[in-house]
Amino acid sequence: MSILFAPTLKENPQEAEIVSHSFMLRGGFIRQLSAGIYTFLPLGLRTLNKITQIVREEMNRVGGQELLMPAMHPGDLWKETGRWDIYGPELIRFRDRRDRDFCLGPTHEEIITDLARKEIRSYRQLPLLLYQIQTKFRDEIRPRFGIMRAREFLMKDLYSFDRDFEGLQISYQKIYNAYCQVFERCGLEYQAVPAESGVIGGDVSHEFLIVADSGEEKLMYCNVCNYSTTKEEEKCPTCQTSLIEKRGIEVGHIFQLGTKYSEPMKAYFVDKDGKEKPLIMGCYGIGIGRTMAAAIEANHDEKGIKWSLSIAPYQIIVIPVNYKKDTQREQAENLYRILKEHDFEVLLDDRDATAGYKFNEADLLGFPFQAIIGEKTERNGVAEIKARQSGERWEISVHNVTQFFKGIKEHGEKRNP
Ligand code: ATP
Ligand code: MG
Repeated sequence: MSILFAPTLKENPQEAEIVSHSFMLRGGFIRQLSAGIYTFLPLGLRTLNKITQIVREEMNRVGGQELLMPAMHPGDLWKETGRWDIYGPELIRFRDRRDRDFCLGPTHEEIITDLARKEIRSYRQLPLLLYQIQTKFRDEIRPRFGIMRAREFLMKDLYSFDRDFEGLQISYQKIYNAYCQVFERCGLEYQAVPAESGVIGGDVSHEFLIVADSGEEKLMYCNVCNYSTTKEEEKCPTCQTSLIEKRGIEVGHIFQLGTKYSEPMKAYFVDKDGKEKPLIMGCYGIGIGRTMAAAIEANHDEKGIKWSLSIAPYQIIVIPVNYKKDTQREQAENLYRILKEHDFEVLLDDRDATAGYKFNEADLLGFPFQAIIGEKTERNGVAEIKARQSGERWEISVHNVTQFFKGIKEHGEKRNP
């Protein structure tokens, strides 16, 4: 902790309207460069990378192949689909030195469809799931809530290519299931809701919402038949049960596009019957930064963040109550070293600060476990372990702490360890 670059703030930052923004600023996770444009500091980047990795693993698991497309797009591609005009001022446009139109990608349908029309010739190459995890640019009319609605933000966007609509249904269901896995693994309560497809287009679409009181969207769902909606409804049309009413934050959106892009851009393939047909497409986005913010909105208390084990920047912080005391310092350093040797992501609070200050800061930063080394450790060799999410405390012999955490890792800490 003495060398970690996590500049914390005592006061609530004035510009923060919601807790996730406030805690991310106060905890030194992010800093604003300009409206809706943020630097991720070391702690913030660790969590962002963890979410990214979970998303990557789940996309790979269902057969997604990762690539990386440019952020700088020739305007000509956007003119082909008409979106150069439709997208409006949210699209960040500029000209290169030869006076050609360019934009910064807010999404990549045109770019992937251009790749597909050049490289996909035959039905033998289908189905194909391609994705990237990349920075997107949208000149949002009201960037706000920190990284929740930013102008530059990290998104995973996947595109599916199929021979026909039956194939699209299969691809769509695969990604739908993968999204459930992602939010499950992030330790977040979520709902998938049928949605409008907006400027991206297409017919069938679902939004994935994280359940949180501060959510911008109203969310109604039924635990009996799994019906869910963002519209005003009293009862569930399928099973007549009263709907549960909550609020949600949109973190993912998936669309069945059909031929919306392949037709105007002439992305055709030769099917089994020898006929040329347009590729049947789907597109699937997850906001990585927004998921991070939503995780905080969903899991916090008045003191700070409560990260799930899977996305916490560090899993454990070892806190010596009095670091100046030789015995405590040695015991804390030993425990820190051993936990590191066993591949735990662990911090040591080696600062010359009061115990209260260190506890408060650990609560603010939200590490799932605090391992407290104090007088009890000196006397009886026990460390006090505190779980940030549940507030539970255990006294564990310092020799068994590694075993204790291994147990938690193996048996899974779903929402509450
Ligand atoms: P919204 O209605 O919130 O503006 P959207 O419908 O424009 O979202 P999509 O185009 O479907 O969003 O983008 C996919 C995902 O990218 C969203 O579900 C969200 O998680 C994320 N996202 C979209 N806009 C932003 C933004 N300005 N800042 C951070 N994440 C964003
Ligand atoms: Mg939007």
